[in-house]
Amino acid sequence: MCKKFIKKRDGSRYVEAAHINPKHKKGQEIAENIILLCPNHHKEFDYGDLSIIEQTNDKIEFNLNGTDYIVNLKIS
Ligand SMILES: [Zn+2]
Repeated sequence: MCKKFIKKRDGSRYVEAAHINPKHKKGQEIAENIILLCPNHHKEFDYGDLSIIEQTNDKIEFNLNGTDYIVNLKIS
């Protein structure tokens, strides 16, 4: 969504894996159900007003708190 990450002491990148369909709603632990987000967007994704517009294996389009986003789900 924003391409931001936290650079760790060892130089590696910290991002969080968010479930698109949350586990408490029977979301699965599979790649198609995971989106990599910075910590801020992870919590906005979990707690904000989210509506998924379209989801394919390649990308997800959604509206979060009034803003439209298209996120590529393929890790390149
Ligand atoms: Zn972000």
